[in-house]
Amino acid sequence: MEVKVVKKRIVLVPVPAQGHVTPIMQLGKALDLKGFSITVVQTQNNRVSSSKDFSDFQFLTIPDSLPESDLKTLGPLKFMIKLNQTCEASFKQCLGQLLKEQSNAHDIACVVYDEYMYFSEAAAKEFQLPSVVFSTTNATAFVCRSVIAKVNAEKFSIDMKDPKIQDKVFPGLHPLRYKDLPTSAFGPLESTLKIYIETVNVRTSSAVIINSASCLERLSLARLQQELQVPVYPIGPLHIAASAPSSLLEEDRSCIEWLNKQKPSSVIYISLGSLALMETKDVLEMARGLSNSNQPFLWVIRPGSIPASEWTESLPEEFSKLVSERGYIVKWAPQMEVLKHPAVGGFWSHCGWNSTLESIGEGVPMICRPFTGDQRVNARYLESVWRIGVQLEGELEKRTVERAVKSLLVDEEGAEMRKRAIDLKEKLEASARSGGSSCSSLEYFVNSLKMKNSI
Ligand code: UDP
Repeated sequence: MEVKVVKKRIVLVPVPAQGHVTPIMQLGKALDLKGFSITVVQTQNNRVSSSKDFSDFQFLTIPDSLPESDLKTLGPLKFMIKLNQTCEASFKQCLGQLLKEQSNAHDIACVVYDEYMYFSEAAAKEFQLPSVVFSTTNATAFVCRSVIAKVNAEKFSIDMKDPKIQDKVFPGLHPLRYKDLPTSAFGPLESTLKIYIETVNVRTSSAVIINSASCLERLSLARLQQELQVPVYPIGPLHIAASAPSSLLEEDRSCIEWLNKQKPSSVIYISLGSLALMETKDVLEMARGLSNSNQPFLWVIRPGSIPASEWTESLPEEFSKLVSERGYIVKWAPQMEVLKHPAVGGFWSHCGWNSTLESIGEGVPMICRPFTGDQRVNARYLESVWRIGVQLEGELEKRTVERAVKSLLVDEEGAEMRKRAIDLKEKLEASARSGGSSCSSLEYFVNSLKMKNSI
């Protein structure tokens, strides 16, 4: 008699934002390759579609989650708090329905939820399903959030407004200074603290998976492991372990043809990710500095990233003149392909964790201009720990922009940074290979699920 082997299912719950969707879909792909069936439970906005890359995945939608308009009116921080309040009941329904469809309740191995979708834990608990937290930031940022979650809110709020201490190292978080702490540009400190208290609380979840590697932040990982009562699995960078194209915006591939015409390592690629905003005066100073650097540049200006402007139409005539000679502007780029391109010599980034990992993964040094949250932590590490980036702090000014671009692409300093970046790239690749620390960590996680499910 033929015995049908039923694959165990893992339910993934992503945050509806590019920087969170990308790594969780990569995680899904990595777990798919390990023999699990994958269900992705999404909210109503920013959904990944079931393309050919995910033909084996099941996609479900949480009914009654918040509309896109709430993201615009509330901003990302308050939106996430409200989303967690709204989705708990409807996610329970969703999970209940999924369980009914399984021939056996034990067919679901666990629910893996983004740390910012903390409502998921209650639903998993109700159905006695194991749950696991997935952190899309790094261990250092996680440690910072747990430190911030415990501070005296009143004193912290006063300190963060005091210009005299901004350059001082925050006690216990060397080399991070007060100004490098992951506070949010998207809302008041009060909401930031509120959400951090929730994200660092693992509740009844049995483990934390983190998209990082021990060669990048061994000490922070050890500290996190000591602080949390559950195993921490650093399995990143996931984009090396598993390719899972999941762009929520349409990629403009014409920039690859433009890159094909440029000299090796001559281009500065500029992208501030999916949420950061730019003031018109900063856009102009950037354009002036870039133009004066005489280096070609590929610049992603995301629609809606310049306040009160659909795209670039509100910028003065001067902008078009400055970028017309050596610049190429797109609305959204195939970033990983761009960073792999031999013409790209540097990356001006907001230092989102995915962009940081993708840049290190290609050995590309960076100009760091963080905008919010953990990007500040990443920028500090890029500049002073891994020493593969130059951070631009304070007011943007055309001369500092020009100097930073030249130091990365022309000067000896940039060549040194590139050497270190290539060295880190090799270490990251080794950690993702069989026998490497991240690859082994994924194995341990998978084995832990098998053990749990065989009880
Ligand atoms: N990205 C892209 N094309 C672009 C800009 C960004 O594909 O033009 C991708 C990038 O490769 C990364 C993600 O969007 O995987 C951004 O994530 P990150 O954590 O860097 O920043 P966030 O968007 O969360 O601020």
